[in-house]
Amino acid sequence: MERLKEYQQKRRFTKTAEPAPKKKSSRSGKLFVIQKHRASHLHYDLRLEMDGVLKSWAVPKGPSMDPAVRRLAMVVEDHPIDYADFEGIIPEGEYGGGTVMIWDRGTYIAEGDLAAGLSKGELKFTLQGSKLKGSWVLVRTSGRQWLLIKHRDQHASADDITLSAPRSVLTQRSLAEIAKDEGGNVAKAATGDPLVLPRVVSRKDRPKRRAPATSAKSTR
Ligand code: MN
Repeated sequence: MERLKEYQQKRRFTKTAEPAPKKKSSRSGKLFVIQKHRASHLHYDLRLEMDGVLKSWAVPKGPSMDPAVRRLAMVVEDHPIDYADFEGIIPEGEYGGGTVMIWDRGTYIAEGDLAAGLSKGELKFTLQGSKLKGSWVLVRTSGRQWLLIKHRDQHASADDITLSAPRSVLTQRSLAEIAKDEGGNVAKAATGDPLVLPRVVSRKDRPKRRAPATSAKSTR
């Protein structure tokens, strides 16, 4: 698979749990995933499925729901489709060594032609994730350097979603919990978790929806 050559060359699949390229496309063909990655530095890897690979950008500060905030997004090598299922540990000393979390995942809708957008340096898309929704743009500023910006719509917000929703969308684990479960460096992983970690609210503990006013009144 010639076009994933850089991905393959950077990794030793006898050492890392990361997948070797196999699957050619997802069911939707429009998969997106954001992986929170505590490697030498904490960053969020935004990946969009295009033409059988995951086009990838490393976003050091992660996405912002605030349209006034522009987040640096550096192009990294294309990843295989199977990578969207990877949550776990990359051994220290290997490329990207550290803890990886599936922070958000879903599908996206391209706004306009993707191939043209990539070469032009302006990609517009709508995300349909669990955390990230609504319209976004990636704009190239120079070389491998792009900016990730939220468009103004009903999903725009001043809430810092990296702090309010820091857990894995798949397993509800924090980075430290993933490292602990999978035999990684827990202390290093914990530096990527927010100081105040929202607790996991199980379905049965969620507050029940308030009863309609009429029935509430009748109990008095
Ligand atoms: Mn990464």
